[in-house]
Amino acid sequence: MPSLDSRELAEIVGPVAAREFDNAKEIYKADLNSWAQKLADLTDGQFLGECSSAIYNSALVSQFRGNWEHEHFKASACFHEAQRRHVAAGHSAECHGNTLYSEAHAKVMRESGYQPTPAADCNCTKSSRRR
Ligand SMILES: [Zn+2]
Repeated sequence: MPSLDSRELAEIVGPVAAREFDNAKEIYKADLNSWAQKLADLTDGQFLGECSSAIYNSALVSQFRGNWEHEHFKASACFHEAQRRHVAAGHSAECHGNTLYSEAHAKVMRESGYQPTPAADCNCTKSSRRR
């Protein structure tokens, strides 16, 4: 799989993850690059799984010293991709409703024994159209 250049990568993963990618160790970059290219093609179910493990790993490594930008990159990229899927499903970009990322986040919280914050309601025109 040919590597994306930094501009193409930033379009997929968003500005936060793009910065984390730049700061990641070189040895991880090829894998992260091909991981990012597959992100948009995952089914929602597969994507939810990627979100969960990215959120879990990113939170886990925050306890340790060292350069973990490659783990934070995946979580940030998942956040960005979840927003994209949310808008693609008909929500506005400003909608605060639940995304696959917040679903995954709540799942990780529950599995770690924490009480997740309650799911947020969709507040954009998609819900008002439905009512
Ligand atoms: Zn909405």
